[in-house]
Amino acid sequence: MIKIIGEFNDGRLIYSIYDDIPVFGYIAIGVIDRGTNVLQVRPTTICPQNCIFCSVDAGVRSNHRWAEYIVNPDLIIKGVKKAIEEKGCNVEVLLDTVGDVLTYPHLSDLVYKLKKTSGVKSVALETHGLLLSRKTIDRLNNAGLDRINLSIETMNPDKAIYLYGTRAYDLKRVIDSAEYAVRETSIDLHVTPLWLPGINDDDLVDVVNWALRIGAGKRWPPVTIQKFIKHKYGRGKDLKEVSWKEFWNFIEKLEIKLGVRLKWTMSEWGMHYAKRIRQVLRRGDLVEVEILARGWLRGEYLGRYSDKSLITVLPSPHVRISPGVKYIARIIEDKDNLYIARIEN
Ligand code: SF4
Repeated sequence: MIKIIGEFNDGRLIYSIYDDIPVFGYIAIGVIDRGTNVLQVRPTTICPQNCIFCSVDAGVRSNHRWAEYIVNPDLIIKGVKKAIEEKGCNVEVLLDTVGDVLTYPHLSDLVYKLKKTSGVKSVALETHGLLLSRKTIDRLNNAGLDRINLSIETMNPDKAIYLYGTRAYDLKRVIDSAEYAVRETSIDLHVTPLWLPGINDDDLVDVVNWALRIGAGKRWPPVTIQKFIKHKYGRGKDLKEVSWKEFWNFIEKLEIKLGVRLKWTMSEWGMHYAKRIRQVLRRGDLVEVEILARGWLRGEYLGRYSDKSLITVLPSPHVRISPGVKYIARIIEDKDNLYIARIEN
């Protein structure tokens, strides 16, 4: 059901999850429901970039990860069907991994199967684009992909290489692919640059103008600017983070300067609140967890609670952890049915 299929130079193990595993409960992979009609779907954790601002410490040079995963598409489909059944509403699927979903070897197959799933209204993916090409776009278009959310922070090729931490990033190809998607396919493009205060303030003007000029936003809003937020295990600790007030002031000034809208309501996104999937565990519960593998972050483990949920398992200094063994653990986090448990001594 889970096996090691590779290893990065830094010792990170790559696991394939292919059978008989619940796909709820774990932040890094599977299906996440946050109480709306949008399901976050995460079939892989792998990323080919190394962005200086990465909030999830992904990519070729990660400091905090010691495992990556690739999940079988049929398991994901099973999870999405279960979520739709429990929620009782149609859903929009957003492939928004803690890596880059374009690395997923079964991406077209997954998109195709998602689109054939009753209750799935649309399928979108988020990417920084290193692996985008016309060929990839054609495959995704044939599979039925509805939208690409492209995070692109600059139109300057050298700056892009600096920001994305790899010389493999070919901005010209990314731009060409995005324009091709808008012009030649039914895939919509939503451009989602991250504002890095003091680093790409002026670049954002170019990015927004480009997105509007090429016709992004055929069915959904064309551009949303994202706020840079420092995370405990993310990169960019030396970058500037502004308050939400400063962020919205910046966005409003940009809207006036460019004469365009950059803020959208939930309904303009076709989003609404919806019944949540069933909560299987609560904070304080004492449960038996089986350790399946390393967790994605160093020192953590991926565990499961019977056939109901995956769990992030934090070790106890007094207990030696081995895969395949069951332990008693206390649930310490349960928000959005994402569970974290600590092994009891
Ligand atoms: S920001 Fe996205 S593309 Fe960049 S390293 Fe992180 S996951 Fe990869």
